Amino acid sequence: MVGSLPENKTKSLVELAHDLKLDFFLVSFTDVLGGTRAKLIPAAKIATVESDGAFFAPFACHLGLGPDSHDIAAIPDPNSLIVLPWQRNVAWVASDVYLDGELFSASPRVIFKKILQQCESLGYSYKTGVEAEFFLLKKNDQGYEIADAMDTAARPCYDQLNLMRQFDLISTIVSYMEELGWEPYQCDHEDGNGQFELNWTYSDALTTADRHVFFKYMVKTLAEQRGLTATFMPKPFSHLTGNGGHIHMSLWGSGNAFLDKTDEMGLSAIAYEFLAGVLAHARGLSALCNPTVTSYKRLGASNTNSGSTWSPRYISYGGNNRTHMIRIPEAGRFECRLVDGSANLYLAQAGILAAGLEGMAKHLSPGKRLDENMFVRGSEFPNLQKLPTSLFEALQCLEQDALLMTTLGELGAKTLLEFKYQEWDAYNSTVTPWELQQYINC
Ligand code: ADP
Ligand code: MG
Ligand code: MG
Ligand code: MG
Ligand code: MG
Repeated sequence: MVGSLPENKTKSLVELAHDLKLDFFLVSFTDVLGGTRAKLIPAAKIATVESDGAFFAPFACHLGLGPDSHDIAAIPDPNSLIVLPWQRNVAWVASDVYLDGELFSASPRVIFKKILQQCESLGYSYKTGVEAEFFLLKKNDQGYEIADAMDTAARPCYDQLNLMRQFDLISTIVSYMEELGWEPYQCDHEDGNGQFELNWTYSDALTTADRHVFFKYMVKTLAEQRGLTATFMPKPFSHLTGNGGHIHMSLWGSGNAFLDKTDEMGLSAIAYEFLAGVLAHARGLSALCNPTVTSYKRLGASNTNSGSTWSPRYISYGGNNRTHMIRIPEAGRFECRLVDGSANLYLAQAGILAAGLEGMAKHLSPGKRLDENMFVRGSEFPNLQKLPTSLFEALQCLEQDALLMTTLGELGAKTLLEFKYQEWDAYNSTVTPWELQQYINC
């Protein structure tokens, strides 16, 4: 196994460089917009970076500080180390960001670790799995098209031929995930033309967030090596199903604390309370789970070529029913289907966990499960709240959500909101081809 986590836990990067025959470390951190920033450090110089950090100008990296700010220091976390399976003398390592010797409060990984500590102090470990859907595209004169010209069926989900035409790329990624000890267990063609999903096994939520960052990097890199572009954007094509990034979750004490075999759905009382917390904060959470303009074209779509959007509109939960925001696929866990491919998993999971823990602290009830097809009957339940329909609305909901604002911290929230309102303004000042066509003769 390359760079396996448990054995490496107590080792320093200097020792790991020696044991794993590494020549370089990719010292990486995720900024507030989900961008991955890194410096490539020769292994011979990793000792000082491990103690003092790799230095970056924060203004240049979407962290909200001015161009006059001191440098931030990214201090690598050896537990997160992943050897690049396609470049085995290099290891990627996630970092925590420091400013002037203190943890930097607007760093997404720092924000997430803070709420994880709160969870651990209650005696629970938060475990999650993510489904990172993506499209394989190629460039053309107008922009991008589906990489596989033969992948054209109106309902292509699970299509065997289309899946196997990408066998080279998919099997390479799976063998790499196996080597890394992620335990991949299935791959399929998804509901959009050119869309795929490769599943690996859940783990503690920080590891899942780190792996999610690395997975996107790995898929994009291996696709590029084959002349393709992999995209996780929530809605690359208006007529096709968008890219979800569903998160499955459970809390663990001595065993799975979400599991209760005596319950009809196999969920414990605290699982329902946690779930109720997530529902209660769903409108604010959508700014973290759906942080881009295009996110709301996935959530708001009325239909796609396949006949379904597979994304929620209402704040509801059901059993093993994919038309709800929360689905209970099996005993002992539930799935948040709100999350899309543009989510920064440190922030999305921080918000979901904070909401869930509040649900437990307040003993919230999610009410009765709805066994309905929400895509057809959603509008028949006037008491159900709707998810935001634009980034702007979601940002306003986030600002009004005191718990989520506290979880992000003053600087984290301010930074995120500033960037995201700017993004909204930039979008809003752009006249689209649709508008021209719609209003030219008004
Ligand atoms: P879906 O039915 O939504 O397509 P997938 O099989 O694609 O589900 O993904 C399920 C994810 O949930 C995987 O990452 C899996 O490891 C994870 N998972 C399974 N059990 C648990 C659990 N108890 N806690 C958290 N995640 C879990
Ligand atoms: Mg320089
Ligand atoms: Mg899946
Ligand atoms: Mg899927
Ligand atoms: Mg799912």
